[in-house]
Amino acid sequence: MSPSDTASERSPLLDGDNNKDNNSRTRSREVLNGVLTLLFIGFLVGFLTLWNGSLSKDPHKAAVAILSKAPVIDGHIDLPILVRHGFRNNVTAVDLRRPTPGHLDIPRLRTGKLGGFFWSVYVSCADDGEDFLVPTNRVRDSLEQIDVAKGLIEQHGDVFQLTTDTRTLRSVISRGKVASMLGAEGGHQLGNSLSSLRMFYDLGVRYMTLTHSCHNAFADSAGILTSPEPKHGGLSPLGRTLIQEMNRLGMLVDLSHTSDETAIQAIELSKAPVMWSHSSARSVWNVPRNVPDNILKMIGLKEGQKDGVIMVNFAPQFVAADGNATLYAVADHVDHIGNVAGRDHVGLGSDFDGIGTVPEGLEDVSKYPDLFAELRKRGWSRRNLAGLAGGNFVRVWEGVERVSKQLKDEGAVAAYDIYDKRTDL
Ligand SMILES: [Zn+2]
Repeated sequence: MSPSDTASERSPLLDGDNNKDNNSRTRSREVLNGVLTLLFIGFLVGFLTLWNGSLSKDPHKAAVAILSKAPVIDGHIDLPILVRHGFRNNVTAVDLRRPTPGHLDIPRLRTGKLGGFFWSVYVSCADDGEDFLVPTNRVRDSLEQIDVAKGLIEQHGDVFQLTTDTRTLRSVISRGKVASMLGAEGGHQLGNSLSSLRMFYDLGVRYMTLTHSCHNAFADSAGILTSPEPKHGGLSPLGRTLIQEMNRLGMLVDLSHTSDETAIQAIELSKAPVMWSHSSARSVWNVPRNVPDNILKMIGLKEGQKDGVIMVNFAPQFVAADGNATLYAVADHVDHIGNVAGRDHVGLGSDFDGIGTVPEGLEDVSKYPDLFAELRKRGWSRRNLAGLAGGNFVRVWEGVERVSKQLKDEGAVAAYDIYDKRTDL
């Protein structure tokens, strides 16, 4: 962990009264805040200049101009699992400065205007039995994937920076580096334990998908192409506590992969905005892994709705029928979510490096501008496109941070609930 990350993780503690006597720290924090504010103003001025400037009539040139100021923040890229399977997690064998066989390397991400992404620290479900009590190595394996992501970020430290809050995100992007967030993909990675959740947070993980394609002690999954019989009917009692604990910590609640019941209950229960890190629209392509309209309609800024962002997945089997997954079909998903939930609630979560095949026209991270050009042709304004690129996600994350601060200010304490089927504690 670099000194600047340590500083940003510690900064909430420094806000407390206990630190008033620590003058040198307070001063250095003020200087840091001043610098960050200036950077942020620079970022905003850049943005506003873009707003007022004229855009090329050529959709591709316009897309590149927009993304140069407001780059893509992708909700889900699976590079760490590729390193697990392809290099037995030997990070030193991976050079992202050179062309890779996968979907991402540094030259291609620069072409594609990728300014930030969640490194998925995913490991697959393991058979842990009817009540999820059969021991597995999934917590160890998850720690290994966090280690891989951090190792690769550090090894390419001139390009990537570990990013654990929105203030850092803005400053990293304004300095032209690639903001690197960590996301864990399923409650099965926690070993049924809220303590694991807190330790993942401490290691820098900022979203957790409630389930992968298996049920777990917290919640029911949607499965992949067919849904399994529900186990809890949505969230379990421990799953309800998990959501509250995620809200308190400031961990984004990710609803990709969850069953509809899980998603509905989590949206109703969460005090903070929610996200789908990599999910498309069921009305466009009917698979349980995609989000149905009745749930999309729960998302918004109106009374009775919850703020959120649905980051569209490129995995061909969730985009269209065999052979029909193209850039245009992905644009249909973006358009549909934009129509039903609103254009302020859509983003991109490609699943690059986690999918064996890709849509035609969206072969790797160099291709995002082509998708933005297509949406520009379909009438998406620069504001819409800047939101799709990353602005909508940043608003959601800021909302999560705000709720966390508020809950902590109100005195919320950590939950120590134990999974009720455990007998060792
Ligand atoms: Zn996934």
